[in-house]
Amino acid sequence: MAPTPIFDGHNDTIQHIGEGKRSFFRRGAKGHIDLPRADEGGLIGGCFAIWVPDVELDDDRDASGNLSPSERKKNPSPPLEFSYAYDHLFDQLHRLYRIVGESDGEVAVVRTTNDIRYNMGSNVFSVEIHLEGADAIDEDLDTLEWLYLAGLRSLGIVWSRPNRFGHGVPIRRFGSPDIGPGLSDAGKALVRACNELGIMLDVSHLNEAGFWDVAATSTKPIVATHSNANALAPAVRNLTDKQLDAVRDSDGIVGINYHCGFLRKDGWSSPADTSLSLIGDHLVYIAERIGIDRVALGSDFDGAAMPADLKDAAGLPRLMDDLRSRGFDDDALRKIGYENWLRIFDATWVQ
Ligand code: ZN
Repeated sequence: MAPTPIFDGHNDTIQHIGEGKRSFFRRGAKGHIDLPRADEGGLIGGCFAIWVPDVELDDDRDASGNLSPSERKKNPSPPLEFSYAYDHLFDQLHRLYRIVGESDGEVAVVRTTNDIRYNMGSNVFSVEIHLEGADAIDEDLDTLEWLYLAGLRSLGIVWSRPNRFGHGVPIRRFGSPDIGPGLSDAGKALVRACNELGIMLDVSHLNEAGFWDVAATSTKPIVATHSNANALAPAVRNLTDKQLDAVRDSDGIVGINYHCGFLRKDGWSSPADTSLSLIGDHLVYIAERIGIDRVALGSDFDGAAMPADLKDAAGLPRLMDDLRSRGFDDDALRKIGYENWLRIFDATWVQ
């Protein structure tokens, strides 16, 4: 039986491909996504993040002087210089289009939901271009407009650091995501511009005040591409019940994140003793709270620590088997797998 098709709400694969790194076209042992493993697992495409890394430091200490890298993850990263972020943005966009160019028609950038439907029927892998953190976007939003023309269709206002538009939550901290102030005026203008252009906004990584500013400013459904339930795993990256209710009320969506640290109650990023069944636990909790039409998958492949029994994209059928064993039928699995994402793209993109 062919695996259930899965469109994935978030991965960090682009930064690991090309220029002496992995190939997208050969099956690798490292990382989580390449075309052979995607084919094996039923992964038909996904939102591919353009993400700008923190500035590399000379030693284990951060800019404030004395934190180890793991300690640093408990705090938001420092803001980036615009020119540094802009250079990285170009680099990753080039990497992405190089994959498309070298694919001989097997991989295509999608700009409409019909593109995704067409690709599904033609066995073409769909790449949706996502910007994870608007650090490289200027306040006049000129960058945003050309990125849209280059194919950008979704944007997280922040990654886990502040920028001119808003404030992100750190990766390794627990409790409430109510950390720091909301969106700046420029951030609210960015929300309105994305609504007008047809760029889907993503609230994963945003702090709670920013989340409520997006909810109040945006005319579109609230989307968290890769976040889980704070009630089950209290990472600040996960959504509180109140936030989940707001996603439901806007007819939005939550893509379940497979990162061990966002699945486990104790927050440990420990693949060897983390089961993929925790993904199902979060999915069931969120589906019961906000509805089966508003939950999907947002792996965080190639950006996070995956449960050992999932391992990579080739392991996705094991996740779908686990969901089936919980009583989700074929209709429900298709919704979770890709139909719910298509519904949200229909609602947020200009077709
Ligand atoms: Zn992320």
